[in-house]
Amino acid sequence: MQSLLRTIYNDVKPLVGQGKVADYIPALASVDPNQFGIAIYSNTGELFQIGDAEVPFSIQSISKVFSLTLAIKHYGPDMWQRVGREPSGLPFNSLVQLEYENGVPRNPFINAGALVISDMNQSRFASPHYAMSEFVRRISGNPELKTDLKVADSEYEFRHRNAAMAHLMKSNGNFENDVEEVLKSYFANCALRMSCVDLAKAFNFLANKGFCSISNEQVLSEQEARQVNALMATSGMYDEAGSFAFQVGLPGKSGVGGGVVAIVPNRFSVCVWSPALNKVGNSTAGVAALESMTKHIGWSVY
Ligand code: GLU
Repeated sequence: MQSLLRTIYNDVKPLVGQGKVADYIPALASVDPNQFGIAIYSNTGELFQIGDAEVPFSIQSISKVFSLTLAIKHYGPDMWQRVGREPSGLPFNSLVQLEYENGVPRNPFINAGALVISDMNQSRFASPHYAMSEFVRRISGNPELKTDLKVADSEYEFRHRNAAMAHLMKSNGNFENDVEEVLKSYFANCALRMSCVDLAKAFNFLANKGFCSISNEQVLSEQEARQVNALMATSGMYDEAGSFAFQVGLPGKSGVGGGVVAIVPNRFSVCVWSPALNKVGNSTAGVAALESMTKHIGWSVY
C-alpha cells in the first residue's frame, strides 16, 4: 500500500497547484496551492500516508456527510420527505430548482439540501455544531479538531446566496428554525479543520458496513451506510459526479478546501487533499490521484 501511495504521488505531482484555490472568501484564498497529501485507513486498522497528510485544512462540503449521518441517526427514513435523493445536474449553490420543486432540495449534498439537514439538526440539538464536532472527534479519534472561526465568520459575512435558499425553503414550509442560526451552524461545520489522516479515519464507518472501528460504535446500520455511499456516488462531486463515477468508480465527497474523500467498500477509506481546484470546484490533483489509485488497484464499485 505504501508503494502504491508513492506511485500515485509520482503520477500526480505535475498536477499539484494546477487550477485555482477557492477564493469566494479571503480566508480560503490565502491557502498555499502547492500542497498535496493522501491518507488511507484500512478496515483492518492500518494507516498509510504520504505528503502533507497531517496538515489540517477546511473540510467545507465534506462536512455535509457528517451532518447527514447525524440526521439519519436521529430522524430515520422520515427525513426523506424534506430532501430528495436525486442528482441535481446544476451547480451546488443553484437556486433555480428550489423554486419549481417547491422548496424540496434534490439531495443532501447541494447547499440547499445541506441547509435542510442543518435545520433538522438545529431542531434536535441545543448546539448542532458542538454535536457535530464531538461526533467527528470521536469517529476520527482526534479530540484536538478545531473550527476555523475566521473562515466561519467570513462565510457568514458572505452568506447571501445560502440565506436566499433558506428563506425560499422557509416560504415553502420546509425550514423550521431561525435562518441566521442555522446558517451559523452550517458555516461552522464547513469550517472544521481536519487533515487527510483525520478524514480517512472518520470515514472508516462508510467502508466498514456502518461500524466505526476507531470509536468502536455502530454509527449507521449497514443499510444506511450503503445508502450514504450511494448518495455520495450520485451527488458527492458537484457537477462532476458522472465523470468521477466513470473515471474513479467509487463513492466520493469533495469540498472547496481541496479535500476529497472516497470509499472502497469493505476495504478502506481514503482522503486526498490538494487545494487547487478545477472548474467545477473539485481538487485537480485530488481527483487525478483517486483515478490513479483505482487504476492501480484495478477495483471499482461498478
Ligand atoms: N461553505 C460553502 C458554501 O456554503 C461550501 C462550499 C463547498 O461546497 O465546499 O458555499
